[in-house]
Amino acid sequence: PDLPATALVRGAANRWGDQTMLHQQGREIGFAGLFARAAAFANALRSSGVGHGDVVALHLPNCPQYAIGYFGTLLAGAVVTPANPLLPPAELGAQLADSGAVAVLTWEPALRAVTAVRERTSLRTVLVTGPEQIVDPAHRYTAGDGVTDFERFHADAATTAPEVEIDPAHDLAHLAYTGGTTGRSKGVRITHRNVLVNTLQSSCWGTGAIPAVVDGPHGRGVVLVDQGPESEFPTRLGEGCAIGIAPWFHAMGAIGGLNVPLLTGGRTVVHGRFDPDAYLADAVRFGVTSMSGAPPVFGALLARRESAGDLSTVRSLTSGAAPLPGEVIAGLQAWLGDDIVISEGYGLTEVTMAATLGPAGRSAERRTGTVGRPIADTEIRVVDEYGNEVGAGTEGEVHIRGPQVMDGYLDRPEENAATLVDGWLRTGDVGVLDDDGFLRIVDRQKDMLLYKGYNVYPRELEELLLGQAGVVGAAVVGRPDATAGEVPVAFLVAPGLDQAGAEAAIEAVNDQVVHYKRVREVRLVEQIPVSAAGKVLKRELRQELAAG
Ligand code: ATP
Repeated sequence: PDLPATALVRGAANRWGDQTMLHQQGREIGFAGLFARAAAFANALRSSGVGHGDVVALHLPNCPQYAIGYFGTLLAGAVVTPANPLLPPAELGAQLADSGAVAVLTWEPALRAVTAVRERTSLRTVLVTGPEQIVDPAHRYTAGDGVTDFERFHADAATTAPEVEIDPAHDLAHLAYTGGTTGRSKGVRITHRNVLVNTLQSSCWGTGAIPAVVDGPHGRGVVLVDQGPESEFPTRLGEGCAIGIAPWFHAMGAIGGLNVPLLTGGRTVVHGRFDPDAYLADAVRFGVTSMSGAPPVFGALLARRESAGDLSTVRSLTSGAAPLPGEVIAGLQAWLGDDIVISEGYGLTEVTMAATLGPAGRSAERRTGTVGRPIADTEIRVVDEYGNEVGAGTEGEVHIRGPQVMDGYLDRPEENAATLVDGWLRTGDVGVLDDDGFLRIVDRQKDMLLYKGYNVYPRELEELLLGQAGVVGAAVVGRPDATAGEVPVAFLVAPGLDQAGAEAAIEAVNDQVVHYKRVREVRLVEQIPVSAAGKVLKRELRQELAAG
């Protein structure tokens, strides 16, 4: 349907009404209640001079205030630029300046970073909320000059959403900044259509459900029509319970965590930071039915399987953002049972969230080691270095075409010309399709290393290392080498192993691979650095190697 992304929150308010949408620390907000608060925030933004197409930064962890700020910004016809509240001031300043944000909703513990860079930005309005307002909306922050308390800002505004004209195909919903795992962060232009479509593509995939446009008291909205007893949804619409752990400031959280639940209903227990013990306690207490997140979340949960309580309510697990190791999949399936659906999705900030998903639904079989097949209306091709499409079974660069592909990077014409060709997005990921169209991600081109001209993919070595007894974390990067070009070096997390044990693990892996892939050095570390979105920060490991 050619409607703006706000049709999702309107549809949810119409359909689910007062049913609980978000729960955090004892506070509950219903779907209609959230819509009313978001509408008030939208009206307050407009009264403060934020207009159509203006950019509003959200600089806070997952919490009800984030959801109000997010949907309110969209209802005002403005654009969300989401920012990790832990960003160092220099990076935050760069994003605020590059995006041209005129307002920011920040988090009291992180306010100092905003204040430090404010002069470099176009910010006119700084709104502050914080942990106290999660439990007590009557709490007020008196944050000093030029800073307004978030609740006070919209307390008296009307709760009917303002009338704004939105062109779904061209107006932006998000100006998202890429993770910056491999380089300088860029602004990704995501339209209202991108958000609406990718939310539908992700929630309908493999379930047989179809979208419908329905008018209601909160305006024209989109809802899902379930196929009744034939439905392949692991949990009935409106009855699920999830834990909102994927950060909403990242693609997976923005679509999977905030927008998909508008269609599927049910409640989300919100966690602003990942504490595995608190996560498991809430999973048992609330009877969660679905768990989703990046691979480190599942690795940490699995490590606590002995002490975790009864998780028999869990029906599905969805991983994304980075490769989910085969060992973790096998461990989760053994722990939680064969009848739960474990699926892995693949995507990038540049495709809103997802391009492929492992099959969902009760009867589906997952094909371990793959990220599933292209979701509806999405094409995937694999091309060689000359740009020619290659057949099944051959590795090459993954290209994606579909209605979720971004409208381009902000103000980067050269990168746009290089990345978007005839509607195809060149991902920079190396992948291979099988005969049935399942995609396997081999690695990122940028993480590949060259040993005397041979390609070495760290991910293959990491999978093998994780299969060794005692190894709970592994990352491989290249170290520059005068004769070979680059040689693979492994960082291992293995609390029970000493250096000799780690070297024995390396030997066992080296026995399984061709000579040029052999790991040449191993370093035992306490942990492997990961980004907020759950991706290994290989750049940091390379810096560590360079430092000696
Ligand atoms: P930057 O592009 O600035 O370096 P980033 O790549 O971390 O940042 P994202 O858009 O968050 O930015 O990440 C997308 C990348 O994550 C993909 O290109 C791919 O390499 C990786 N990825 C996502 N899902 C999966 C998956 N299921 N398996 C393997 N890799 C994945």
